[in-house]
Amino acid sequence: MTRRQAYRFRLKPTLAEAALLRQCLGCSRFVWNAILAENEHRFDEGDPLPLNYAAFCARLKALKARHPFLREVPSQPQQQTLRDLALAYRTAFDPNLATGMPAFKKKGFAQGIRFPQGFKVERNGVFLPKVGWVAFRLSRRTAKRRIEGAVKNATVRLEAGAWYVSFQTEREVAETTHEKAGPVVGIDVGVARFAALSDGTFFEGANAFKTYERRLAFLQRRLARKVKFSGNWRKAKARITKLHRRIANVRQDQLHKASATISKNHAVVVLEDLRIANMTMSAAGTIEAPGRNVAQKRGLNRRVLDQGWGEFRRQLDYKLAWRGGTLLLVDPRETSRTCHTCGHVSADNRRTQATFLCVACGHAADADTNAAKNILRRAGCARIACGGASLEAPVKQEAQSAA
Ligand SMILES: [Zn+2]
Repeated sequence: MTRRQAYRFRLKPTLAEAALLRQCLGCSRFVWNAILAENEHRFDEGDPLPLNYAAFCARLKALKARHPFLREVPSQPQQQTLRDLALAYRTAFDPNLATGMPAFKKKGFAQGIRFPQGFKVERNGVFLPKVGWVAFRLSRRTAKRRIEGAVKNATVRLEAGAWYVSFQTEREVAETTHEKAGPVVGIDVGVARFAALSDGTFFEGANAFKTYERRLAFLQRRLARKVKFSGNWRKAKARITKLHRRIANVRQDQLHKASATISKNHAVVVLEDLRIANMTMSAAGTIEAPGRNVAQKRGLNRRVLDQGWGEFRRQLDYKLAWRGGTLLLVDPRETSRTCHTCGHVSADNRRTQATFLCVACGHAADADTNAAKNILRRAGCARIACGGASLEAPVKQEAQSAA
């Protein structure tokens, strides 16, 4: 089995190196936007150009002749940008993937420059073509970490004012079987509580955004009072950027801890197949059909995104795979309204957020644990083969009358 793993470090470029890296980012963005604009223009004229990597490369050559500054920075990241653009068109035109057309890139958004070759990695530095050796920081956590496997590419990113380098690696590892044969566990994720397991344990969320919401609002008010682009404005802006970075780190740390613990203790994990994109869709609606409860929905959206469920699922998936475990996804419908004991489905079963009280059989339980047990059972109903792990026997989904 091929194990792909990314290693990420905080990059510490000197001022001159950072300036050059910024220039690289700017050039990649320029190339992407220029070729995208040309495509759109030619499309409107009814004379579309071929949308593949080879055709883009030919046009990059012409672009470089017109704009010599593109030649001052490494050329590989620009080519990689065009690969990404070609891929973006391929997915946009794929009827099975409902992705939008590629969009113009704005300055300041998290962007990466990728080097597929020509770079070298040492213990605490990376050599990048035309940039030279750039140091990266080894934290207490990463100091002992060794990069294993063949390094496929290096990507440099500027995120919230900080530079990072990540290395994508690949290595062959023996197929493993998870050391724990069971028990299988179902997980219910929620806004009030991050995750409830069917065995009765809970994981609290970091709620990083909520924790720092007031401080963020305070800093933003302060920024608004400053003269734009003045020295004090820049300082205030840097504080906000730093806080955003802290929020992201706190959130990521909590997700990693939860996914590591769960993947270590359980060989098979059942999760709801939540379409997070659908759940957080704007409630605003259209002019003809305006949405209801727009403000409340916006607040919920923010909390949903703050929980990082999509990232949690991604981490669980790969961490389980590394240990030889499996992640199963089941339909989430009605899992929170169904009684685990008798199978009665009713909204009345959930009079409050925290407790579940079945109106048919009187079964009382923690609402999240009840939902997690239903999720676990649903995997059994689906009869998905899961390597000999014993799932609970499914029960009939029929309502029984209360005795
Ligand atoms: Zn019941």
